[in-house]
Amino acid sequence: MNLDFTEQENAFRAECRSWLEANVPKHSLPSGDTREGYALHLEWERKLFDAGWSCVSWPKQYGGREASLYEWLIFEEEYYRVQAPSRVTQNGIFLLAPTIFEFGTEAQKERILRPMARGDLSIAQAWSEPNAGSDLASLKSTAKRTEGGWLLTGQKTWSTRGAFSDMAYGLFRTDPSKSRHKGLTYFLFPLTGEGVTVRGVDRLDGDEGFAELFLEDLFVPDENIIGEVDKGWEVAMATTSSERGLSLRSPGRFMATAARLVDLFRRYRETCDPALRDQVVDAWMGAQAYRWYTFKSVTDMLNGKPIGAESSLNKVFWSEMDVRTHETALAILEQGACLDEGSAAADDEGAWIKGFQFALAGPIYAGTNEIQRNIAAQRVLGLPRG
Ligand SMILES: Cc1cc2nc3c(=O)[nH]c(=O)nc-3n(C[C@H](O)[C@H](O)[C@H](O)COP(=O)(O)OP(=O)(O)OC[C@H]3O[C@@H](n4cnc5c(N)ncnc54)[C@H](O)[C@@H]3O)c2cc1C
Repeated sequence: MNLDFTEQENAFRAECRSWLEANVPKHSLPSGDTREGYALHLEWERKLFDAGWSCVSWPKQYGGREASLYEWLIFEEEYYRVQAPSRVTQNGIFLLAPTIFEFGTEAQKERILRPMARGDLSIAQAWSEPNAGSDLASLKSTAKRTEGGWLLTGQKTWSTRGAFSDMAYGLFRTDPSKSRHKGLTYFLFPLTGEGVTVRGVDRLDGDEGFAELFLEDLFVPDENIIGEVDKGWEVAMATTSSERGLSLRSPGRFMATAARLVDLFRRYRETCDPALRDQVVDAWMGAQAYRWYTFKSVTDMLNGKPIGAESSLNKVFWSEMDVRTHETALAILEQGACLDEGSAAADDEGAWIKGFQFALAGPIYAGTNEIQRNIAAQRVLGLPRG
């Protein structure tokens, strides 16, 4: 096993580090889950795209620099190391884009990828419905054939940043005679115009991070179907596999949080419970383990072994690690942990409590951890259905 980076990879790291250090905004931006913050985040993402750093592993024709997947992981490490703004384009570039590369037509790639990566076309995810969350195949939204396209009707919910996005992707029942996973089609649909109402929903922290989407005979042309009619489930599973597997939560994010935790402990070691040191070490080791596991997954993928159902184990690991890491930070801060974002006295501008609140959502989004454990039990361990 060779854990060293090549000369080319080291040069790549040096190049992106130097660009990021020179260009990352000097002050942190307001949350990208607010209207004001979202617009500022998009501005930053345009700058990133124009300099060729938005989607480093993509082909050059779509704005990438054809970097390897290892180099993409290196870029992510550097991105989080300098605490660059969180990517509000993530549902597009990390989830929809891999699906378009796999299932999209050439025309769709030309039309969607560049504007999406530049933040000129922002995309939300619209799987969940009021009565279809974990059991997504029970969804009720429909698409009826009409001249030149389809009319979409139904309600979607919990759509992250849907309140500010231009379009969303989701599944609709195109053949009502078929049940469950069959007869579903994967559509990309607009969030403005006739036939669609978008209602923002405030989160616990006050940010308008979600939206409910109400569709009534919303016209969508044929060219907005990803994959084949009635075969959307397979396409959707490719998207969810990106969410749980490689692309949504790269190790750089957790390594940077673990490094901040070590720094926090060093600053508070005289006052906080010394026993917390073990938890800090544990958090740091968890992030390192996730890093090496991810490099191994990339090696497997390049050798023709896709991640498959193991992405469920991945998702359980990073989401639970994130909760533990933030809990440790709050224990170090003691009463100071209660100081909210924006409070002058809050450590790290209140980033720990804000991060903790979001970490609590990790075991829920991208498919709850209970469901991921079911998948791992059946498809990784081969246990019988309960
Ligand atoms: C921060 C955040 C962002 C999100 N963003 C989006 C988004 O952008 N787009 C989108 O479409 N959705 C989004 N969601 C919604 C998310 O996908 C759903 O919340 C999730 O799939 C669970 O569905 P549910 O809330 O309907 O819960 P339910 O499915 O009703 O589940 C309730 C509880 O029952 C458990 N449960 C259900 N079935 C089983 C089973 N068979 N075995 C064991 N336990 C079970 C679940 O684990 C859960 O604990 C987001 C959620 C969060 C928290």
